[in-house]
Amino acid sequence: MKNKDNDKEYGLATLAVRAGQVRTPEGEHSEAIFPTSSYVFGSAREAAARFAGDEPGNIYSRFTNPTVRTFQDRLAAMEGGEACVATASGMAAILATCLGLLRAGDHIVSSRSIFGTTTVLFNNYLARCGIETTYVELSDNAAWEAAIRPETRLLFLETPSNPLTELGDVRALAEIAHARDCLLVVDNCFCTPILQRPLDQGADIVIHSATKYLDGQGRCVGGAVVGDAERVGQEVFGFLRTAGPTMSPFNAWVFLKGLETLKVRMQAHCVNAAGLARWLEVHPAVERVYYPGLESHPQHALAREQQSDFGGIVSFDVKGGRDAAWQVIDATELLSITANLGDTKSTITHPATTTHGRLTPEARADSGIGDGLIRVAVGLEDIDDIRADLARGLDAVADGS
Ligand SMILES: *Cc1c(COP(=O)(O)O)cnc(C)c1O
Repeated sequence: MKNKDNDKEYGLATLAVRAGQVRTPEGEHSEAIFPTSSYVFGSAREAAARFAGDEPGNIYSRFTNPTVRTFQDRLAAMEGGEACVATASGMAAILATCLGLLRAGDHIVSSRSIFGTTTVLFNNYLARCGIETTYVELSDNAAWEAAIRPETRLLFLETPSNPLTELGDVRALAEIAHARDCLLVVDNCFCTPILQRPLDQGADIVIHSATKYLDGQGRCVGGAVVGDAERVGQEVFGFLRTAGPTMSPFNAWVFLKGLETLKVRMQAHCVNAAGLARWLEVHPAVERVYYPGLESHPQHALAREQQSDFGGIVSFDVKGGRDAAWQVIDATELLSITANLGDTKSTITHPATTTHGRLTPEARADSGIGDGLIRVAVGLEDIDDIRADLARGLDAVADGS
């Protein structure tokens, strides 16, 4: 934008299209891609001043690149944060946050219902560095509070959870965290800033897998960390600068184009998901539907308060357990059988035998992932076609055929 100081006055859709762009002397309308590893200095003195941090400017694309910076500035404006660090993937964003801010002996309290690979990162790799994690039930505020120890530094959650769309109360958890000198970190992958801005609700850091809705068309892998100038702008940035899990300029450009359509895409995902959830709720082969937009969702009131809409993920229990669920999945012709989400293309998964297949049957039952559960990440196809694709299998299950 011509005057970056105006960013606060613009709405989210405007920021998504405009924020962070700095035109070159060529006057290009669309953002430029800068595929360069290094930059030329005007003099030895200028090089010295840049390296010393006395003068702003590009140095080397592991940590300074104009296309990546445009993406960072745009996402920071959209999340309402002071600083953003773009990373090579969503997992790299979580790693950079933890290694930028924590040290051996520190402790994390995390929701039990998080992305499976995040659990592996905490249990197998951070644990090796002397950083221990305790898991709690996402919606149980008292459990979060009870799990905090003197050495706890960070509370970590995703909301709504995947695949059961359970919510964490960001305002309440921010209070609990801050009363004990801890940071609240929210992985905002499912809502994006269009549906939920955790920093406004008291969270300290927002994490993204840009791979999902920010791209929105299944093309690139990337991530981001958003927060304040010191923790994210200095400490997380310091880790990225040194360790190098950097986003490429090309991927940053793809994500910039993704952000430009994020609001209309999220609105369309929400409309399709709500339409599907309501239809499933009255289907005779369906036991239960999990979608925060349904009045039957136990945290519907919190979802209304915390989110501006209810998202694109719908899960449901099919009567008849695993065989019935597999029958519904195998009867689809349009939906993609894959675990990815946030794409224009609808995807369908059987969590009990894929994403949550490594859990013991008891642990799965504990987390509410039944054998009849199906998750649909609702895409942007015509809703009638999505419903018809699922009706084929569901009607057969209902008829017992
Ligand atoms: C996919 C995902 C991640 C990891 O992101 P990658 O880009 O695949 O590394 C982290 N959190 C959530 C909620 C995700 O869905």
